[in-house]
Amino acid sequence: MKIQDNCVVSIHYTLTNDEGDVIDTSEGRDPLRYLQGHGNIIPGLEQALLGLVAGDSLKVTVEAEDAYGPVQDSLIQAVPREAFDGVDTIEVGMQFQAQTAQGPIPVTVIAVDEETVTLDGNHELAGVRLNFAVQIADVRAASPEELDHGHVH
Ligand code: ZN
Repeated sequence: MKIQDNCVVSIHYTLTNDEGDVIDTSEGRDPLRYLQGHGNIIPGLEQALLGLVAGDSLKVTVEAEDAYGPVQDSLIQAVPREAFDGVDTIEVGMQFQAQTAQGPIPVTVIAVDEETVTLDGNHELAGVRLNFAVQIADVRAASPEELDHGHVH
């Protein structure tokens, strides 16, 4: 069957950035299975796979806007160092959970000085154009329970 909304799709994939670095791959693992049309994977990839069948392969470039979104300046904030009372060493690259009105989000330290710590709450792939090489391993209809839950069992 063709990939369409409400089917379960199994794919092998390799994800690289524009420099050719492999960011993620299913090589050596089971294929990724997802429920088409339910936002299980990034919108740009989901859209590109529509209509393909098992055995097809595809190379597709997904712009950041259709992947993890652009970098949002509002998610980068400088906070006073005192906010980290009890943390002995704060270094660039460390990750913390920040409490926000929308719940906890992971943030990464991107700068530190005597007074302030600058935190970035953007997804690590925000602003990054993604290049996928995909092979369709299987396409099947979803079960009623899978449709009800919005994910693959
Ligand atoms: Zn479930």
